[in-house]
Amino acid sequence: MHHLRGLLLLICLAGGVSVSDSFSAEPSKKVLIIGIDGCRFDAIQSADTPQLDQLIADGCYDPDCHIVGERYQGNDTISGPGWSSILTGVWADKHGVNDNTFKGKNYEKYPHVFQRLKESLPDAYAASVVTWVPIQTYIVSAADEGLSYAPENKEYAAADAVASLAAQRIVTQQNPTILFYYIGQVDEAGHSKGFHPSVQEYVAAIEQADKHVGEVVTAMRSRLDYANEQWLIIITSDHGGRGLGHSGGHQVPEILNSFLVVSGTAAMRGRIEKETYLTDVVPTALTHLDVNVKAEWALDGQAVGLRSGL
Ligand SMILES: [Zn+2]
Repeated sequence: MHHLRGLLLLICLAGGVSVSDSFSAEPSKKVLIIGIDGCRFDAIQSADTPQLDQLIADGCYDPDCHIVGERYQGNDTISGPGWSSILTGVWADKHGVNDNTFKGKNYEKYPHVFQRLKESLPDAYAASVVTWVPIQTYIVSAADEGLSYAPENKEYAAADAVASLAAQRIVTQQNPTILFYYIGQVDEAGHSKGFHPSVQEYVAAIEQADKHVGEVVTAMRSRLDYANEQWLIIITSDHGGRGLGHSGGHQVPEILNSFLVVSGTAAMRGRIEKETYLTDVVPTALTHLDVNVKAEWALDGQAVGLRSGL
């Protein structure tokens, strides 16, 4: 820091060049979206999650992000519609996915965020790493790398670990504009042992997910050009859970509410005051990347938690 100040002083004295002229280059804006399937925020709070805690402290959060909108609640409260809403920015009456059969999908008209990004920034590098294969099979489009690691015998922990390595490789060796990284083992633990902050296996899965979040975020921060980049990190889940499930949860707050974290130097601080929705993820990411969100895209969400966007 002192060295930099000295250099600035030298530049000013030597050339009469103002500091703002010399350092007007905008940081390169980038987005990391982390999706943790079936993760309840109250269970994060009762778990030991230093990585998530720090990301929340370095940004803003909503502990009650709605997984269905006000206009339409016809879809089931499960992964197919949830991740479709998160990754397209529209509700299920538009993207057409009401359950995990993906019957009726309309991603041609309401595509994945990568496709919207590339309409505006064709040279953007977009990558997705998942362990729930239907995301890659059905939802992802316009990816430079779209990787999915199917768990063997529904053992997501091992698949998530491999996916973390892939995400770390991409974020360090490529130059991604946007990276989506998905973690599956929390939902698996919920289905087998219970979705609740008092269930040890569920909490342990969240703690393992937190480690993977830390691995990918640490890799991101180790990028050679990190000092000239402005990363926005968005973290959410597709639904909560109660008992051993989450289907048909339209009247169940523990299922109906997810959470949303928006973190980084571009994010606001503290609890987000307004209501938030899964469909806010795409407009938030695109707004950070300076993409003009077109009215004709008919996105249902809004940018939330950005210093400049409010
Ligand atoms: Zn799910």
